[in-house]
Amino acid sequence: MPLARVQFPRSASTEEQRSEMEDVLGGFLGALARNGQCAFGFLTAYEQGRLTGYVQSAEVDSYLDEYCTRFANGERRKLEDGLGAPVWTTLSDASPPGFSCADWREARALYLFTGALSPVRTVGSAGVAPYYKLPIRDEHEIGKIQHWAKEAELLDDLWLQSGSLEIEAYRELAEVGSGLNVTGRKIAGKIEQATGKPTYYYLPRRYGLGPDSPPVRCPGCGAELEATGLQDYLGLRCTPCRLLTENQRDLDEPELAAIGLWSGA
Ligand SMILES: [Zn+2]
Repeated sequence: MPLARVQFPRSASTEEQRSEMEDVLGGFLGALARNGQCAFGFLTAYEQGRLTGYVQSAEVDSYLDEYCTRFANGERRKLEDGLGAPVWTTLSDASPPGFSCADWREARALYLFTGALSPVRTVGSAGVAPYYKLPIRDEHEIGKIQHWAKEAELLDDLWLQSGSLEIEAYRELAEVGSGLNVTGRKIAGKIEQATGKPTYYYLPRRYGLGPDSPPVRCPGCGAELEATGLQDYLGLRCTPCRLLTENQRDLDEPELAAIGLWSGA
């Protein structure tokens, strides 16, 4: 993720304006982060009297006005009125290994998965498709994606932390009928409608009974799952249900193997 600096040419004229403008910059960068244009964890400060922000951007041009939400552009205009037009500088364009942004137009299919910047991934590459580039401009719809992504990430953290809510969190992530997954599948459907790309929804299937257990059926319709040939955690799919899932990985907790299975309903 490129490291970028944004700086404003004029100094604040009063102490009050100085503090107000720094708050507005925080709101602006927060809006970019919620939209997947940069990471959360940005910094703001006055450097030699000039208001400055440091962000990790999704891409070197991800802060362009055309990608910003209406709210973000409103905050940017307040900053421009007060301190002049922002000047963006890319300080480093190196990306961490394994992280790259992908163009959804070039993907054969997409899927939803929790993770950095955007929960929209491209099938067949390790790429993240930032949702500020998806053809979904309705801010209400973008808000729903952001809200779902945050909840999925929190549940994923709770599961991985292995604390007292570990199993409840896994159940919410793995059961096709959970609130999280019902919402997530609707979002995947809207993304498919907007992009014209088959858009799958990922369901984890971590626990199993071992090689003698009957093959796992699609949790959505009960049909046999098809091997995808993709990386392990995306090894199985049901095309009509647009579900991607995986083979059991952990055989040490057989009492959890039933979570997420097709219920026959
Ligand atoms: Zn199915």
